Amino acid sequence: MSIAPLSPLRRPMHRVEHAESAVLLTSRSLMLIALYYAVGLWGYVFTPDPYGIPLVWPATGIGLAFTYLYGYRMLPALGIATALILWQFTDDGMPLAEAAGVVLATMTGVGLGAWALRRFGFSPRFERLRDVLILLLVGALAASGLAATAGAWAMAVTVEELSFSDTWWLCWVADLMGLLLVTPALIAWLAPGGRHLDSGLPMIVLLTASLIGVSALVYSGLLETGLAMPLSYAVFPLIMLAALRCPIQITASLMLIVGAIALSGTGWGLGPFADVGLEQSLLSLNAQLALLVLTGLVLAALRNERESAEARGRQHLDDLARAGRLSTLGELSASLAHELNQPLCALTSYASASRRLLERQRFEELRDALAQLDSNAHRAADTIRQVRAAAVGKTPREVAIAPGDLITPVLDLLDPELRRRRVRIDVDLGRSLPRIVVAPVQIEQVLVNLLRNAMDAVETRLDGIIRISARNLGAALEITVTDNGPGIPEEHLATLFDPFATWKSGGTGLGLSISRSLVEAHGGQLTATNLEDGGARFRFTLPLEVPDARS
Ligand code: ADP
Repeated sequence: MSIAPLSPLRRPMHRVEHAESAVLLTSRSLMLIALYYAVGLWGYVFTPDPYGIPLVWPATGIGLAFTYLYGYRMLPALGIATALILWQFTDDGMPLAEAAGVVLATMTGVGLGAWALRRFGFSPRFERLRDVLILLLVGALAASGLAATAGAWAMAVTVEELSFSDTWWLCWVADLMGLLLVTPALIAWLAPGGRHLDSGLPMIVLLTASLIGVSALVYSGLLETGLAMPLSYAVFPLIMLAALRCPIQITASLMLIVGAIALSGTGWGLGPFADVGLEQSLLSLNAQLALLVLTGLVLAALRNERESAEARGRQHLDDLARAGRLSTLGELSASLAHELNQPLCALTSYASASRRLLERQRFEELRDALAQLDSNAHRAADTIRQVRAAAVGKTPREVAIAPGDLITPVLDLLDPELRRRRVRIDVDLGRSLPRIVVAPVQIEQVLVNLLRNAMDAVETRLDGIIRISARNLGAALEITVTDNGPGIPEEHLATLFDPFATWKSGGTGLGLSISRSLVEAHGGQLTATNLEDGGARFRFTLPLEVPDARS
């Protein structure tokens, strides 16, 4: 994730770049001031407190998000916004020195918070659990800690009845809550590369409508507190679903919407938390919202952690398969070059000797030379056969194993890929299959190759399905992999198993050739056919040590 560094590297800038960056800086600063002012206004309007202590103060969170994303150059705008709010909402005005102190403390808290987010490698996508923890600590200690001190100080200076110590913690809770609600949503939407919404629109619409519906009902004042209170918890499962199914931008925005409705309602004196007095309602509503936000963020982070572990696993699998093929290819070519060198040299020298003998009409010697040529050509062919057998490796230990124990681990291995590609798999292992004696790794490699090819073939279909089945043929076990993809073009059927025969971009054309060699090394056969109603079927047999009478 690359975000513009906090202190951009100094390099000579052209005039156009200067102008562009000045426009960008101005527009971002204006956006920050407007948002800061709007949520400040909102904080003051929806407050049940006679002295105007807001229930929640999201302004600090906005300042933190902007400074984290766009650098310390946002701090002057933050200072202006804070001064604007102070000037607007302190009735009798605040002495200049105190006002400057409040502005400075807010700027320092936010600047320190943005520095800490960077310093501790916070990811705006909430990719790991530690990102949630970093935001929470930075919010609690730096940003909200200092901003709340500034807020409480402002209160104590302007309202005689309030002491700094009475209001500090109320300001801190309001600040931290506001930060938890707005910062994740702002950062997730504004961070570069964060706009890919890959999950289904119907799910997003349904969740948004349900959350707005439930919250609006709970904070409408229409329900008795006894009913509204338990119903206020109904947002939890919906947010959990969003965290598990939707991108972080959506989850964070939904939490913000729920928070905005709950806080506006309570500020207006509606809903289950309104009647219990400021301190109580502030605590209980904010505690509920804080838990909601943490649940959403923690679940989203855990999901991201799991998905990236799966992606790493897939990558590892791919690397392994590729490395296997390449090393086989490397070994094969190295031994081929080495082993074939000698018979090929002999072939050329006997061929030119034959030409000379023919020109001189020395037919007796010519016959000998041709015989040598023939036997060297056979030697070369034998060498190729041997190298091929060596390349598929006869060495792995063979064990007696139930077919299910061979197939199941492969399906487990490919399960994340099957799910990611939305391919269904139908497994039919028949009844009482006999054990087979094989080198499990090699047969698993064959299965992985066939299943991967089948996945590639059905990938573009919405109803892609692969069927894997095993049958006892008496003398052999037969395993088939069938798919409902486009099938193999007729003109390719004859060369399908040749090395390097590939018709897909990025293919190596080695999977089927190696698979056939591996099956043949076990004494079986691998064949492919097209199905009449579309799709391909790959079928391979593995001989049973003690042929089974049943079929
Ligand atoms: P690769 O997959 O690297 O191309 P393979 O030897 O495994 O190499 O496959 C060779 C070719 O056979 C593929 O490029 C593909 O065109 C074709 N093929 C394999 N399996 C199928 C299948 N199930 N359906 C259609 N074509 C297939």
